[in-house]
Amino acid sequence: MRIKDIRERPVSLSDPMSNAGISYLEMTASAVAIDIDTGEKGMITGYGFSSVGRYAQSGLISERFAPRLLAIEDVEGANCGLDPVRCWATMMANEKPGGDGDRAGAVGVLDMALWDAAAKIRGIPLWQLLSESYNEGNFHKRVPVYATGGHYYPNSDLEALKDEIKGYLDQGYDRIKIKCGQGDLADDCTRIEAVLALLDGDGSRLAVDVNCMCSTSGTTQEMADAYAPYKLAWIEEPGHPHDFELLTALTGYYDGPIATGENLFSMSETYNLLSYGGLRPDRDMVQVDPALSYGMVEYANIVRLAEAGGWPRSQMVPHAGHLLAYHAVAGLQLGAHEIAARRDFILGGLQDEVLIEDGTGSLPQTPGIGFESHAQLWALLKEL
Ligand code: MG
Repeated sequence: MRIKDIRERPVSLSDPMSNAGISYLEMTASAVAIDIDTGEKGMITGYGFSSVGRYAQSGLISERFAPRLLAIEDVEGANCGLDPVRCWATMMANEKPGGDGDRAGAVGVLDMALWDAAAKIRGIPLWQLLSESYNEGNFHKRVPVYATGGHYYPNSDLEALKDEIKGYLDQGYDRIKIKCGQGDLADDCTRIEAVLALLDGDGSRLAVDVNCMCSTSGTTQEMADAYAPYKLAWIEEPGHPHDFELLTALTGYYDGPIATGENLFSMSETYNLLSYGGLRPDRDMVQVDPALSYGMVEYANIVRLAEAGGWPRSQMVPHAGHLLAYHAVAGLQLGAHEIAARRDFILGGLQDEVLIEDGTGSLPQTPGIGFESHAQLWALLKEL
């Protein structure tokens, strides 16, 4: 079994939305296709699509990681299937520890395509392959989900925010995350109260993402004081992802849950977060994104590392809401899946066959990840 061809294209994710840290107008992602000559089963193509927020990685893929994969003489593993772990080890040969950054996303999107192909070769959905590989055959029968939205838009207002969130509730979501932090704390509270009014005033159904807006522990404490009365599901990314001193000060001050980790990219970075970030396994959430942190091979090790440190899988809540993460949450029985709930956004929604009801999603049955049944993504990937 051999990898015959790897094709990558940078694609635009341009959108008028923004958060406290970045605009999406110039955002890009890598779309990837990998052809596998399986012998008896003919040619099978696996697809990958980068997670949002870190741009396309065309150079790293074409110059460094794709040639290493193409040089592997045989990628077959146990059960007559493709072995993503062997492929991963070959991609990471001659890479020094540390300096994860964009490299982790380049490897991550290739790893995604390899897992898609591996599940297709087995003829099963990826959640099932992950369940067999890393969770002793256990999986979520229904996948807990929450809807992400409530970004900032030019010339938008509170009514538009409320309309957007009402639309998500109508789609079957019962937990929501919105953006805050672009304005002042009074503006944040106005946004939070507007959305809470749609959620029966239940703060446990609303999370708030401030996208690293706080630069000192003083500003995090002011934010915590302002948000505390709402008893929110969590506050996400209070400060710089590497500022563990700030994070520790906040978790020592604020009783409510904190979520972070989407801007950390490896098992060693996660180890530092769990060791030195002051996080509490009984309430805080770790949001490392498998697609941005070297893919499923590394992410499965991150989950095992967290478990060894006393973190239940319920506290692992991957960032970004891409299709790979849905399979990871289902197959590894993680805490929840984030869904970019605006269906007109390229990465919005899930595979067509997934039905959302009462805040949970059904299990897709199509072999692989199921990019073929996601209209916006398939329109881009089929060109590959
Ligand atoms: Mg976030």
